[in-house]
Amino acid sequence: MRNVIIIGSGCAGNTAAIYTARANLKPLVVIGHEPGGQLSITTLVENFPGFPEGIDGPVLVENMKKQAEVFGAEYVYGTVDQADLSKRPFRISIEGEWHESRTVIIASGASARWLGLPNEQKLIGRGVSSCATCDGAFYRDRKVMVVGGGDSAMEEANFLTRFASEVTLVHRREHFRASKIMLERARANAKIKFLPSTLVDDVYDISKNEVTGVRLKHAGNGKMWDQEVDGFFVAIGHIPNTKPFKGQIDLDHDGYIVSHGGARTNIKGVFHAGDVQDRSYRQAITAAGAGCMAAIEAERFLEAEGH
Ligand code: NAP
Repeated sequence: MRNVIIIGSGCAGNTAAIYTARANLKPLVVIGHEPGGQLSITTLVENFPGFPEGIDGPVLVENMKKQAEVFGAEYVYGTVDQADLSKRPFRISIEGEWHESRTVIIASGASARWLGLPNEQKLIGRGVSSCATCDGAFYRDRKVMVVGGGDSAMEEANFLTRFASEVTLVHRREHFRASKIMLERARANAKIKFLPSTLVDDVYDISKNEVTGVRLKHAGNGKMWDQEVDGFFVAIGHIPNTKPFKGQIDLDHDGYIVSHGGARTNIKGVFHAGDVQDRSYRQAITAAGAGCMAAIEAERFLEAEGH
């Protein structure tokens, strides 16, 4: 029987692990399908306080894990496939193996959203990607496309100009939701060509088992045309990882956990932390803060229950 199981090993999960481990609660942290969460697939993080020169995302998140391990947090590889939160102790299945715990902190984050194009999934890893930092180096002196109008799209496009000869940034509207600084940085980059009010109809070529081009459509007049590209990066946001908790934890219409104040969910003893609940701020530092809140609430809950 565990005091606390933390689901997720991003900023939120690792911070919850540091706090609960330091409170001697010996947390079990489920690493999940994306070890280290979204920071593990980013480059330089410039806005996490304490690092005036910035710090590489993977280093930052690995340091958090090491810090939690110093205090006795235990990490287990695997993903949560089922959860029974109907009674206590709560039961969590990690790849079919059930574990019991007095409290649970859900810090399972959110995963990349895809466009849903007919050929998109078939070409993942063959030119279609959701992670420029993972795959960008394959596109040295080649032409790539990035889809999206938020900060992620700007960041991916900028990053890809380190390798690619040309980056086309496709967005479905005229207006970009990216922050001013990120948008300006992308606009100032001569290698990035902006293609607003444009939809992607499909990506080719499954017969060659690699990306050779895309079919585009103007959002206003419906005109269609083809463009040759070697790489196709989708940066259109994320979907919260809440599937195992559906029907038990209160979720909103997009699947994000509904907070019941602080880090509380609708179930006493089950807490939320990070992007799995936060559709507004979604920053490394806010996720870390949320992990801290969840840990403190779990600690207080256990204390009140006499553990
Ligand atoms: P986002 O802000 O939600 O932007 C998603 C973009 O994808 C939007 O422009 C949206 O278009 C577009 N989109 C969504 N679904 C689409 C579809 N089916 N077809 C075509 N386009 C679609 O997501 P994000 O860029 O991943 O950013 C998430 C959060 O992380 C934000 O708070 C952001 O500030 C933060 N972030 C920060 C940094 C940084 O500071 N270094 C880097 C990355 C992310 P519409 O605009 O038309 O809705």
